[in-house]
Amino acid sequence: MRVVVFSDKPYWHRFLTEANEAFGHDLTFIEPNLNSQTVALADGYPAVCVFVHDQVDAAVLGSLRKGGTNLVALRCAGFNNVDLEAAAEVGIKVVRVPAYSPHAVAEHAVSLILTLNRKIHRAYARVREGNMALEGLLGVELHSKTVGILGTGRIGAIVGQIMHGFGCRVLAYDPYPNDEVRRFAEYVSLDRLSAESDVITLHCPLTPDTYHLVDAQWLKQVKPGCMIINTSRGALIDTRAAIHALKTERLGSLGLDVYEEEADLFFEDLSERVIQDDVFARLLTFPNVIITAHQGFFTREAISQIAATTLANIRDFETGGPLANEVSSGRKVKHK
Ligand code: NAD
Repeated sequence: MRVVVFSDKPYWHRFLTEANEAFGHDLTFIEPNLNSQTVALADGYPAVCVFVHDQVDAAVLGSLRKGGTNLVALRCAGFNNVDLEAAAEVGIKVVRVPAYSPHAVAEHAVSLILTLNRKIHRAYARVREGNMALEGLLGVELHSKTVGILGTGRIGAIVGQIMHGFGCRVLAYDPYPNDEVRRFAEYVSLDRLSAESDVITLHCPLTPDTYHLVDAQWLKQVKPGCMIINTSRGALIDTRAAIHALKTERLGSLGLDVYEEEADLFFEDLSERVIQDDVFARLLTFPNVIITAHQGFFTREAISQIAATTLANIRDFETGGPLANEVSSGRKVKHK
């Protein structure tokens, strides 16, 4: 099938090309993100392949349809950047990669916890400058501390398991509890999780219900000095409220792999430019904040799986097979 791959990077090119040996799709790689300015580049392609920062809103979907596109293949799990109702309305199918090595993101979340706690980011820079002093690097033992997992799906469950292995008490909150997780975690109310956890790690999807879940009000309930980790989606956290909580020292530390305005920043080398986002720039000034630029998924295993599943989704669409990884709004729309 002819597919245009938006938001290309060398690693996507490499892994998709390798995986495509088994599928034989006709792939065209282009660097721009998909949005209303770039959508014309998809004209004549029956399928577009997109990632987390591509804007697949109603206007873009309408233009895609006019240009002959019938399929949007997300090479990621989250689909908050796609207007599913609009896709159903214009008759474009949407597929995604629901599961790809959840260990990649889970291990990254744990890396952020360990780095922040033992201040590895500061120790690394100090020692390279010949500063071997220990003041300011004091951590705590995670053993017997309480870790709250918000969202115990594929990724959250693994983070809980790993932290249980460290000897932590694991609390969990999820509207759909998982019996496997009960073996090492106690499901509690959101209020109890926020009040009792030394570390809170977010693994729920971004939906209208979870938008700014971590806001000023919620941050007032957390245990003073609590660490918050977000490897899920940036807009789960009201960043301005988090900055206020860091300044008042209510929040002890913050580890982010995602940021609510990341689309203008992440995946690009901006080291020669002045960062225009003042909220992001403020975050970078805190010694107790670490930010990685959405690299949780970035392991060889995960990218290989993403590439293979994306191309298999496209093949299933092309051959008219069942679309196991379709995402839809649930609305039935009649098409002419
Ligand atoms: P999943 O669907 O397996 O699990 C999500 C869980 O969140 C489910 O158990 C669901 O019941 C729960 N949930 C839904 N609403 C909730 C709420 N209001 N409060 C608490 N829990 C709630 O998803 P997953 O594969 O574990 O991925 C989790 C998130 O991680 C995804 O939504 C995605 O945005 C993000 N992600 C990030 C990266 C990265 O590179 N940083 C990579 C993959 C996924």
